[in-house]
Amino acid sequence: MIPFNKPAITGREEVYMKEAMLSGHLSGDGEFTKKCNLWIEEKFKAKKALLTTSCTHALEMAAILADIKEGDEVIMPSYTFVSTANAFVVRGARIVFVDVRPDTMNINENLIEQAITLKTKAIVPVHYAGIACEMDAIMELAKKYNLIVIEDAAQGVMSTYKGKYLGTIGHLGCYSFHETKNYNCGEGGALVINDAQFIERAEIIREKGTNRARFFRGQVDKYSWVDIGSSYLPSEINAAFLYAQLENADLINSYRLDCWNTYFKGLKDLESKGKVVLPTVPETVMHNAHMFYLKVSDLDERTKLITYLKSRSIHTVFHYVPLHSSQAGREYGQMNGEDNFTTKESERLIRLPLYFNISLDEIQSVINELNNFYEV
Ligand SMILES: *Cc1c(COP(=O)(O)O)cnc(C)c1O
Repeated sequence: MIPFNKPAITGREEVYMKEAMLSGHLSGDGEFTKKCNLWIEEKFKAKKALLTTSCTHALEMAAILADIKEGDEVIMPSYTFVSTANAFVVRGARIVFVDVRPDTMNINENLIEQAITLKTKAIVPVHYAGIACEMDAIMELAKKYNLIVIEDAAQGVMSTYKGKYLGTIGHLGCYSFHETKNYNCGEGGALVINDAQFIERAEIIREKGTNRARFFRGQVDKYSWVDIGSSYLPSEINAAFLYAQLENADLINSYRLDCWNTYFKGLKDLESKGKVVLPTVPETVMHNAHMFYLKVSDLDERTKLITYLKSRSIHTVFHYVPLHSSQAGREYGQMNGEDNFTTKESERLIRLPLYFNISLDEIQSVINELNNFYEV
């Protein structure tokens, strides 16, 4: 049986978790959390990184930092995970969805300007499959209209756009360390702060609205409630697990790329025969092999293919139900312009098994079964 995903295990997780356990400090912001924050800051040249309990929570922190209020509008693709929208809806925002480009499934940067109104506060590009959005165009619009850019880089840890790591290009960036992502600790995330004006408030929001971080640095002699906030810091056990993964990030990344390239080469033939469409990686992008997907003719063919692969013990999945047509999406937002690609392309897309502990032989057998299905 080849499952769709298995969370990566690299070997040191148990050792570090035990170290955390014996350190006598299990709550947040101990040594392992600091190590993870520093690792992100150094590796990605980020001004500040703060581990969080999830990417959803990093997005919620970003929405508070961007000062999102009732009636503000936030622009994002409809083809994304619910948290991208929810984090802003809980602050009272209306979501303005913009169509995706069919080649990368990322927000179409050329359709953003027409969605901007006087109420627009932020743009949230989602780097789908770890492949970067056209950030130059997006940052230019943000400058022109004085908007905040929050990158949903949940899938984009270790990817770059024109040499810059994803998550470090917008004002704020959000990472996920959920077990389905490249580097994980079960549930976890990080907020990356690239605009220094947000750093102090971010520390406060993350610590239940208190100035506890300043207290620990000896900058105030007692800590108290100073702002809104929540409990967004993960336990040291999670941070210890994550640190083992980050230490091995290059190893995980290069193996995932081997897997991705094996799929790409192995399925090229099916593509040239017109049976499937493979993902596009723009020249400006170095990706992290977060996902291998392909597109088939339509929904009906996808259902048949998933059933066929399942009968061969290969588990594949699809996503997302476009947010603008979902129950909550209709209540809290709307599409701006036409839905030319979001719905149509999402119905054709299927994701293949790809994880650190899959073997290249297993990948080859998925390729063989795909060829069998199309009888080539
Ligand atoms: C996984 C994911 C999230 C949510 O991440 P969590 O850490 O599970 O909260 C948000 N956005 C995108 C695009 C994702 O893929």
